[in-house]
Amino acid sequence: MNKLVLIFPFLSLVAHGQLPGKFEGQGPIKGVSTETRPVLNQWKGVFSFPGANVFFRNDFTGARLNGVARVNDSTFTLLIAAENTPVNASPWYAFKVWSKTPVSITLRLTYQNARHRYTPRLSSNGRDWRSAVPDRADQQLDTSGGYSFKLEVDRDTTWIAAQELLTSRETDEWISGIVKKAGALRQTIGVSHLGRKIEVLSIGNLKSADRLLVIGRQHPPEVTGQLAQQAFIERIGEDDSLALAFRRRFLLYVVPQMNPDGVDEGFWRHNSGGVDLNRDWHAFNQPETKAVSDFLRKEITAPVKLWFALDFHSTHEDIFYIVDPQLKGLLPGLTQSWLKNFEHSIPGYVPNIKPLYSDGPTYTSFSYFFKTYGTEALVYEIGDNTSREFILRKSQLAAESLMRLLLNDLK
Ligand SMILES: [Zn+2]
Repeated sequence: MNKLVLIFPFLSLVAHGQLPGKFEGQGPIKGVSTETRPVLNQWKGVFSFPGANVFFRNDFTGARLNGVARVNDSTFTLLIAAENTPVNASPWYAFKVWSKTPVSITLRLTYQNARHRYTPRLSSNGRDWRSAVPDRADQQLDTSGGYSFKLEVDRDTTWIAAQELLTSRETDEWISGIVKKAGALRQTIGVSHLGRKIEVLSIGNLKSADRLLVIGRQHPPEVTGQLAQQAFIERIGEDDSLALAFRRRFLLYVVPQMNPDGVDEGFWRHNSGGVDLNRDWHAFNQPETKAVSDFLRKEITAPVKLWFALDFHSTHEDIFYIVDPQLKGLLPGLTQSWLKNFEHSIPGYVPNIKPLYSDGPTYTSFSYFFKTYGTEALVYEIGDNTSREFILRKSQLAAESLMRLLLNDLK
């Protein structure tokens, strides 16, 4: 009997893509220069070989493929390189492959100064994705960090990407949907280096002085963070009594994609200024961070308060990075109560929580929101491989719990 009791919680955590006892999280954030520097554009087009039937292409939004070498008729080595270095080891790739005749090919992904991280996802239309489940995972990673896998290809194009493609186009469609559903106001508050729009949605009571903020996709490959963000916002946009009461009472700002250039250019980490945006929330050297901080400075003036903020990201596992609980913001204890609710509402789930800001310059967005506005702010990290169903369920619970707490605390 005891054994069964012990096994079940473990299984439910494994199903969520999290193993107990392995959580470390990242170390203290260090300052780096956020002055604009060059990024390397990738050559775009079709990769073909004399006499070969297999073709590759990267001339689409979100693609990343820097070179292809033919080893033989059915084996190809692909080079995936970063936009510039040094860069975080989040080697994003996305490309299409097809063949004049049906053939089984082996692809070896190799990376510039990085090891394989993302299990390939496959699609026949660029919208519906499935994971390429490795037959023998231990044999496909090689010692130099490359990754080989087999694939059946034919005349129909196969899309291969590190995660589902959620570019500015899909985000634009999602925004249109939520604007219609929840009656949101849509504004452009700035443009990126390459002229892409930085957009803010305002959801809820536009006259309310009680406001919240959600941002996401500072880091281009972090698609699971965007999936979590969308589910969170969608829950707040529902028509049940809780969401309606919340939207009557509060105003929620959403910046769905902070880094549209990085997303659409298939970058590993940076914006088109070659900078990690989530290290620029003190200098504001980059147009994307500057647009959002200028917008907030105009909007958040007395008696308006920014009570709560979330910044959605992805990493190897689900983590919440918080402000040191010793520091008191506008609603001391709110973050802790909110996180505690996860433990109660999801059987077997123990959130990974780590304080990541206690003092000093605000390199990151959440620390900036806290230090500037006293906002209860945290980073909502989702694992690269966290099950997509679990991402949705967790975000819905997160939104419900937050709406209840805020409606209760700010009567
Ligand atoms: Zn991130």
